[in-house]
Amino acid sequence: MTIPIRKTGLLRNESFSFTCNRCRECCKNKKIQINPYETAQLARRLGMTTTRFIERFTVEEGAFLKFTEEGTCAFLGPDGCSVHHDRPLVCRLYPLARHVGEKGEEWFSELEPEPSCRGSYGMESTISEYLAKEDALPYMQAANIYLNLLWKLISALESQEESEQVEGSIEEAVTPENWMDIDAVVTDYCLRNRLQKPQTVNENMRLHIEALEQWIKPT
Ligand code: SF4
Ligand code: SF4
Repeated sequence: MTIPIRKTGLLRNESFSFTCNRCRECCKNKKIQINPYETAQLARRLGMTTTRFIERFTVEEGAFLKFTEEGTCAFLGPDGCSVHHDRPLVCRLYPLARHVGEKGEEWFSELEPEPSCRGSYGMESTISEYLAKEDALPYMQAANIYLNLLWKLISALESQEESEQVEGSIEEAVTPENWMDIDAVVTDYCLRNRLQKPQTVNENMRLHIEALEQWIKPT
């Protein structure tokens, strides 16, 4: 579902503010994309592994949050978002959207709010201040890291296809179904390298990246 844009090409220093009236309409009928960092944050909050979280709360092999048949996000409760502290980046940014170009250039768009949205746009602060208020910066950093990694994975898989290597291939180790599963990948990596599996999300993410980078490296 594409959300109409009302203004784009905005940079962090530009004026922007938004007052949300918590009507929760924006948690319905959406596709909320998540990356492994966001998955790990949500899984830790719910006290489960990322493997279990992906099975229970996502679709398309962990790429999107699950929505109910009625079209509401699985985490929308009677009092609003039940995972508010660990909500994904797109939920933190809304009604802004963030774009990153091929050379890492960044810009933002103001999205057209839901027809029934009771929030209001303003000009009282800047996009930077809004990002800080929503604690979006660590999520944006993780999004950049995983976007770069995804490009490298795609390119490695393409060159592997071209060279028709089969044995010990990336595809055997990292499948489209499992690469986003931090706990599965890091558990396997720690076993192979006789490491202790870390406790924190950031340390698990660091090893996840390290494991994927190793698989990507040409042998
Ligand atoms: S629809 Fe608008 S007012 Fe309602 S919760 Fe979302 S952003 Fe806030
Ligand atoms: S994670 Fe929370 S904020 Fe995001 S769509 Fe679901 S209920 Fe809404």
